[in-house]
Amino acid sequence: MNIFKAVQAHQLQHAELASERVGNKVSGVEARVAELETRFNRLALINEALWELLKDRHGYTEEELGDWITLTDLKDGKLDGRVRQTTAPLNCVKCNRVVSRAFARCMYCDEPAASGGTFDRVR
Ligand SMILES: [Zn+2]
Repeated sequence: MNIFKAVQAHQLQHAELASERVGNKVSGVEARVAELETRFNRLALINEALWELLKDRHGYTEEELGDWITLTDLKDGKLDGRVRQTTAPLNCVKCNRVVSRAFARCMYCDEPAASGGTFDRVR
């Protein structure tokens, strides 16, 4: 093999490795997007169910809903169309160690995570 072909083979191998790394990153991004879509769909379902319940059982109006959205948005002092994320740590109800809100079970003792509310699994 002459030097030109050796350089070409090296460059090709380098390009293939780079392509594989990009493919792995794309797969990771696709998995994250799928996870976010699942959370988004869960939130949309919960919100629609809540709104239907409130209209049906209590007769609330769209105007009242808009007012409450504004009040909820302002809880963190900013009218920015966002809700403040709860980041305070949770403690396992069985072993009392600090556990991530992102997991359904304690990573130390496998106890199911305490549910703080309907929206916990979508944050
Ligand atoms: Zn535990």
